[in-house]
Amino acid sequence: SKESGRNRLSAYSNRMMEDLERKIILETQLASAMVNNEFHVFYQPIVDAQSLQVVKVEALLRWKHPEMGWISPSEFIPIAETSGMIIPLGNWVIYQACADIIKLKQCGYPDLIVTVNVSVLQLEQDPFLEVISRILSEARIRPEDIELEITESTTMSQGKAAETLMMLLDLGVKISVDDFGTGYSSLSYLRRYPLHTIKIDKSFINEMTVVDFDRTISKAIIDLGHNLQLKVVAEGIETEEHFNLLRALGCDEIQGYFISKPLDFATMCKFLQNFNLKVG
Ligand code: C2E
Ligand code: CA
Ligand code: CA
Ligand code: CA
Repeated sequence: SKESGRNRLSAYSNRMMEDLERKIILETQLASAMVNNEFHVFYQPIVDAQSLQVVKVEALLRWKHPEMGWISPSEFIPIAETSGMIIPLGNWVIYQACADIIKLKQCGYPDLIVTVNVSVLQLEQDPFLEVISRILSEARIRPEDIELEITESTTMSQGKAAETLMMLLDLGVKISVDDFGTGYSSLSYLRRYPLHTIKIDKSFINEMTVVDFDRTISKAIIDLGHNLQLKVVAEGIETEEHFNLLRALGCDEIQGYFISKPLDFATMCKFLQNFNLKVG
């Protein structure tokens, strides 16, 4: 009826208003949230498929809002990107990760690599290289201790971002292409940059054991990476079956809930102490 049609329409526009309101609230509170220490860096272990040891941990940002609770980065990172807050927030994540690298060295994990997600907007910002160099030298951390994860996109290999990428590589910082296979139509940038790692996006992994196509894609990405002397990481591994399949396909490093969810720093340290993976 006309009446229920109108109700449906208003329910729809109410939801749109609520989404918009939430977005505006988050956008206006991003800056104060930084000042109020509402951001936390969690870490998710990444395991070497051969040695079954944890060789890296990925830094993943979390926002603990006083009223709304934990907010996912997939919700607030895009907002931080459009508002420009990604610059100070991204710098803070790098700074925090470096502080935690020092703690990890003191706790007996001197060679554990910490990977940090970096927005292309950070690479396009003028002093990014100086920011990185300064944080590394102040923390007395080797460039090899850190790996920057950059989401595959057209803009990453053009202009200022491309320039910064090359200088970071010269500096000795490792670069990983995140969400590989989802954002770019050309592979020529792989030839131009001495990158270190590609990460197969978890959307390919999800149904790999049931969907032949995704398994074929994963295998092709692994072989492509190896032919280019790159390490290949798979993310989103949730079961032992997935884990073993990726190992059999030759994947180098594996990350996902099957190993561990992202953990706060203290919990991650305990996890490392007790970690002993046994797979069939
Ligand atoms: P991403 O870099 O692709 O990170 C992987 C996401 O998959 C993370 O979500 C992680 O918690 C989740 N994940 C890991 N293993 C599994 C699994 O086995 N199953 C499932 N279903 N999910 C898994 P998270 O932490 O919510 O982060 C979402 C995205 O936000 C990240 O995707 C990354 O693009 C972005 N992000 C997170 N932290 C930062 C940051 O500090 N800076 C920037 N620029 N982006 C960040
Ligand atoms: Ca990532
Ligand atoms: Ca991903
Ligand atoms: Ca991503």
